[in-house]
Amino acid sequence: MNLAPYAAHDATSRGRAYKEPAPLYRGEFQRDRDRIIHCAAFRRLEYKTQVFVNHEGDLFRTRLTHSLEVAQIGRSVARALKLNEDLTEAIALAHDLGHTPFGHAGQEVLNACMREYGGFEHNLQSLRVVDVLEERYAEFLGLNLTFETREGILKHCSVKNAKRLGELGKRFIDQKQPGLEAQLANLADEIAYNNHDIDDGLRYGLLDIDHLNQIELFAEQYMVVRSTYPKLDERRVVHETIRGMINHVVVDLIENSSACLRRSKVQSIDDVRNFGRLLINYSESVSRKMLELKPFFRKNLYNHTHVQKMTQSAKKIVEELFIKFIEEPNLLPTQYQERPGSDGVASRARIVADYMAGMTDRYAINEHARLFGSHGST
Ligand code: MG
Repeated sequence: MNLAPYAAHDATSRGRAYKEPAPLYRGEFQRDRDRIIHCAAFRRLEYKTQVFVNHEGDLFRTRLTHSLEVAQIGRSVARALKLNEDLTEAIALAHDLGHTPFGHAGQEVLNACMREYGGFEHNLQSLRVVDVLEERYAEFLGLNLTFETREGILKHCSVKNAKRLGELGKRFIDQKQPGLEAQLANLADEIAYNNHDIDDGLRYGLLDIDHLNQIELFAEQYMVVRSTYPKLDERRVVHETIRGMINHVVVDLIENSSACLRRSKVQSIDDVRNFGRLLINYSESVSRKMLELKPFFRKNLYNHTHVQKMTQSAKKIVEELFIKFIEEPNLLPTQYQERPGSDGVASRARIVADYMAGMTDRYAINEHARLFGSHGST
């Protein structure tokens, strides 16, 4: 790998919490990526909602295919900027491991249920999965990932939570930046969902072309495709438009970040961490266009009656299950009942949250049906 001096390097990695010998034929970040791919939480992503519930159709994105798209975009940009592709990929594949079933609806209600016990935050939970919840290795809990991968997974964090996280939380207290691969994975996430949500929204019939032409980023590319291929059928026009959008944003991200890096004169990952602002970013004009997307999706997609209906039933399932498990912990699987610290109510609530966050959509639906009968609450 041809790495820039400010990329993450094995030799300057801040290492793993539990010391291990270096891998024989892989780099440290390759090993992180491999551990992530082999863990149970990664396989569960296949059956977790991104926006549309998994069983609504075979072509919609799930958290797994979303994570793969994030990794693809991240790696392309990483290679072009001579950043560490393996680290970028590891962060991308792990970034959603802590998501609850039923997408944001699940996260919201689990957070509400956990309010008195420290709350629930999917980003923090992703870290918890790789740090402690995966039980696969003889010598340590979790996946024992490098500091840099964990730094990338923890995208945001309140100062209160940061204080409990030692070295990893420090940057949120000192207001420092993460490494470039972490900055990149974060934007690759945004580029992936902004584009695939258009594709999924159109496929489901919740969005239409007139709607989307209100957005500059879409309208520009749509016009180019329409005028280049006037007779092309609509489905292919849409795919070409989305392809054009991703390309436009990714090229801008590479060129603008490359210019920022040159101007900043950073020479190492620590220079990057100490630099006053993020160095991986779009140009101002693309930033502005990207900003248009969030409120558009909120209004037309995430708050659409259909998605909201799904949200309501998901909320009911998560809330009722949570209350049930708190009241009757003997209903939890044995390995959860045996977790240490399960005596106090707050630690019991955390164990319930860990169990529930690990559920896939269909597992949660089945578990709810088992405990409440298939018609919902008793
Ligand atoms: Mg994501």
